[in-house]
Amino acid sequence: MRGDIHLKELKRCSICGHLTEEENLVERASGNICRYCVEACNEEFAFLDSFNMDHLKELKPHLIKKELDKYVVGQDEAKEILSVAVYNHYRKMDVDSDIEMSKSNILISGPTGTGKTYLIETLAKILKVPLAIVDATAFTEAGYVGKDVESILEKLLSLAGGNIEAAERGIVYIDEVDKIAKAYDSRGNRDASGEGVQQALLKMLESGEVEIKSSDIFLEETIYIDTSKILFIAGGAFVGIDEIVNSRNPAKKKKIGFSSNSSSDDSKEYNSELRHEDFIKFGMIPEFMGRFPVLIQVNKLSKQELRDILIKPKNAIIKQYKELLKVDGIDLEFCDDAIDYVVEKAVEMDIGARGLRSSIEKFMYKIIYNAQQQDAKKIKITREILEKMQKQNKKTCI
Ligand code: ADP
Repeated sequence: MRGDIHLKELKRCSICGHLTEEENLVERASGNICRYCVEACNEEFAFLDSFNMDHLKELKPHLIKKELDKYVVGQDEAKEILSVAVYNHYRKMDVDSDIEMSKSNILISGPTGTGKTYLIETLAKILKVPLAIVDATAFTEAGYVGKDVESILEKLLSLAGGNIEAAERGIVYIDEVDKIAKAYDSRGNRDASGEGVQQALLKMLESGEVEIKSSDIFLEETIYIDTSKILFIAGGAFVGIDEIVNSRNPAKKKKIGFSSNSSSDDSKEYNSELRHEDFIKFGMIPEFMGRFPVLIQVNKLSKQELRDILIKPKNAIIKQYKELLKVDGIDLEFCDDAIDYVVEKAVEMDIGARGLRSSIEKFMYKIIYNAQQQDAKKIKITREILEKMQKQNKKTCI
């Protein structure tokens, strides 16, 4: 006995040599390994794995599309064009020829909440490449949030775990590029700030080596990132561009209208309609558009597509709630008429699939609270219940 103090038995890790409590140690006949060494090894393996880009050689457009289909509902034409553009981009790296290969940077446009960012996020996961998402509105004429464009590449490098080779095969998604279009005030005078930001972005889009500082303060080395293999994708809603397309093509006026108040079921199929000149008329500068040879258009989601988003994808919102409640032994049933109700509320919001999450979450947090309080084992959600909750919410302003 050593008095009142109970000392835990410590054992030595065979890797780092530190004395460690038993619960933080795995013991084997040939030696012990502590939790901290296991974590350090995992990080090291993840880093080594990120060097392996062999899977990019196996890519085929139809296989990329098939994977995208598991998560992204609708947008078939966009998915096809994106799959081919990405396939071309990574294949060009393997071309051994004197012919200089031009980049296939992509500009993706269409209404808000229809899957532009989600498509790119899903794509990066499929390709297992780092993805840096930046907002064009965070740029100033002096660079990204007042800093140089290098900070974006620094972000990409950090997402690649410091692996330069992986960062150089990464994707940079510049969101909200429509917000940096040239603007005119009510008197028709040009506001040059958006144009200045587009000019600043050109620096990053140009292929070449960019010098960035190492984030490791102990390493005073300079890192060079070759941007020629980085895939740049720009995205934006471009509200009003349909009018520019229609003015060029009056005969098809009725068909084109993703930003109009038309019902979400009748605005389809106009990928082929959009041209670079339309974006230039919208306010993008020709040099900027010249860096984005591939144009992709996503459509407003139909009611059926919104419904599918709730239930079909691998990680559909309702599937997520079912799994979450299953942990506590609660069986969740979401009736068809309740799903229709959530879709109707989302359509009213007119923010695409974003409306689904906000409308369903508003109901679910109250339903889960009540179910847990009453120790329920089954939750059946009907349209009637949701309508009742909606009325109560209006009264209590929740
Ligand atoms: P935006 O087009 O404005 O970039 P997002 O891609 O950010 O919209 O969409 C917001 C969210 O809505 C996504 O994170 C995703 O959960 C869902 N979503 C949007 N479009 C789709 C779609 N076509 N299929 C599946 N989910 C979608």
